[in-house]
Amino acid sequence: MKGKLVIFSAPSGSGKTTIVKHLIQKGFPLEFSISACNRNPRGEEKHGVDYYFLSSDDFKKRIKNNEFIEWEEVYEGRYYGTLNSEIDRIWKNGNHVIFDVDVKGGVNIKNKFGNNAISIFIQPPSISELRNRLTGRGTDNANDIETRLNKAEEEMTYAKHFDYVVINDNLDNAKAETEKLLNTFLSE
Ligand code: ADP
Ligand code: 5GP
Repeated sequence: MKGKLVIFSAPSGSGKTTIVKHLIQKGFPLEFSISACNRNPRGEEKHGVDYYFLSSDDFKKRIKNNEFIEWEEVYEGRYYGTLNSEIDRIWKNGNHVIFDVDVKGGVNIKNKFGNNAISIFIQPPSISELRNRLTGRGTDNANDIETRLNKAEEEMTYAKHFDYVVINDNLDNAKAETEKLLNTFLSE
C-alpha cells in the first residue's frame, strides 16, 4: 500500500474532531499524526498520545535539525509541528496519515505532498454558531473562546486554498460528505 495523507483543518469548534473520530470509527485505515508542541498538557492529555509535549528548547533544536515537515507558531509563543518521523511511523504501520493542523500547516502539507494528499476544510455555518459550539463543548474558558473566535475569522479566509470545503451545519450530512471524499481518494 502506498501511504497517503488526509489533511483536516478548521477553526476550533467547527466539528473537525467529531468528524475525524467518526471516520476512524467507520474503519478507514487512518492513523492520527501526533503533533509536537511546546504547551503543557491539558486535563487528561498524555505525551505520545495527544501530542509529543516538548520543552521550548527541544522544539527549537528540532527546527534547526530539520526534523519537522512543517511547524507553526499557532498562538503567540505556542509552537506546533509535525515530525518527519511521525509520518514514517504511520506508513510503516500500513496506515494512511490523518492530520488535524491549523490552516497554514494544512496548506503547507498539501503543497509538499501534492496528489498524494487531500486537504479538507471543515467550515462552521457561522461565527455565532461557532461561539455556541465552543461554549457548549465546555472545555475552554471565556478568554480562550474569544481568542479562538478572533482567529476563526482569519482562518475562514484560507478555505479557498483547500481541495474541498465541507460545511458542517447538519452533522450527518458532513459525515456522509467526508466519507464519500475519502472513499474516492483512498481508492485512486
Ligand atoms: P473541533 O475539533 O473543530 O474544535 P469539535 O469536534 O470538538 O470541534 O466540536 C465542537 C462542539 O460542537 C462539540 O461539542 C461537538 O459535539 C459540537 N458539534 C460538532 N458538529 C456539530 C453540528 N453539526 N451541529 C451541532 N453541534 C456540533
Ligand atoms: P490545541 O492547543 O487546541 O490542541 O491546538 C491549537 C491549534 O494547533 C489547532 O488549530 C490545531 O489544529 C493546531 N495544530 C496542532 N498540531 C499542529 C501541527 O502539527 N501543525 C500545525 N501547523 N498546527 C497544529
